[in-house]
Amino acid sequence: MQLLDGRLTSATIKEEIANEVEQLVKSGGKVPHLAAVLIGDDGASETYVNAKIKACERVGFKSSLVRRDSSITEEELLQIVQDLNDDDDIDGFIVQSPLPDHISELKITETIDPKKDVDGFHPTSVGKMALNLPTYLPATPYGIIELLKRYNIETSGKHCVVVGRSHIVGSPVSILMARNSNPGNATVTLTHSRTQNLSEITKTADILIVALGKKGFITADMVKEGVVIIDVGITRLPSDKTKSGWKLWGDVDFESVSPKASYITPVPGGVGPMTIAMLLTNTLSAAKKEFYQ
Ligand code: NAP
Repeated sequence: MQLLDGRLTSATIKEEIANEVEQLVKSGGKVPHLAAVLIGDDGASETYVNAKIKACERVGFKSSLVRRDSSITEEELLQIVQDLNDDDDIDGFIVQSPLPDHISELKITETIDPKKDVDGFHPTSVGKMALNLPTYLPATPYGIIELLKRYNIETSGKHCVVVGRSHIVGSPVSILMARNSNPGNATVTLTHSRTQNLSEITKTADILIVALGKKGFITADMVKEGVVIIDVGITRLPSDKTKSGWKLWGDVDFESVSPKASYITPVPGGVGPMTIAMLLTNTLSAAKKEFYQ
């Protein structure tokens, strides 16, 4: 069994980005600028946004944080999005989810200028991804693809089973794995809560991508020998064994499953760090106007 080390891989990607930023600025280009909008005081969202801002600093990007409390109206948030669309210094921005219940996430996403949609959630970005056209890819699925690529894992002709069909992970990663590209060209089965005989299907997976948010859901009897496992799940539980007082758990029962796997991502240190690295990659693409003029 070999670990797919997302921490190490993301450090390499960040170093590559930092070098490119240095070159860009030396040749008279502008410093890439990412803005993040954080609404309310959800602890996990705060942690994610802080990690994104810190990552920007590490690679030499400029970053801005727009913070409002959860009483903000939808109209006010739409105005913030519009202002960020119009701000020429900002190359890309994200609106951290979840948003308060009285705000439509879809409406906010649709208002983001696709040129600045570095989360890759705008319907234009999703459509381009599905058509295999160059565009921002959603960071978590992009991170999974990049990890498979950098570890030279063969995906062509393999059976890839995805568990979970969310708009941010399961659905897009199933599209990316099925595309005619490398990595890609897999035969994909997308499963969800209505899937019958799930373990019969997961047992046939050469590559198993799990994103459902249930600690230890995938057990050894559900996988075949030699499977490649990508565990996207993050369940945060209190712990008296860590400094932070929290411990993160994946959707895969690592202890029982890892001896059967050829490759597996740990949690933490697998997909999580890759997600941030790919957000930075998208922001660099935005600054270089790779997809739009
Ligand atoms: P989500 O919106 O929470 O949806 C969960 C998906 O799992 C749904 O499609 C659901 O099916 C499916 N599901 C639930 N129970 C199931 C079962 N018993 N059998 C088969 N499928 C089942 O998904 P998400 O937002 O992608 O999040 C999933 C996990 O990934 C969470 O733990 C989240 O924290 C984590 N995550 C991690 C990262 C990272 O950077 N590492 C990024 C994003 C998310 P239905 O559609 O039928 O309800």
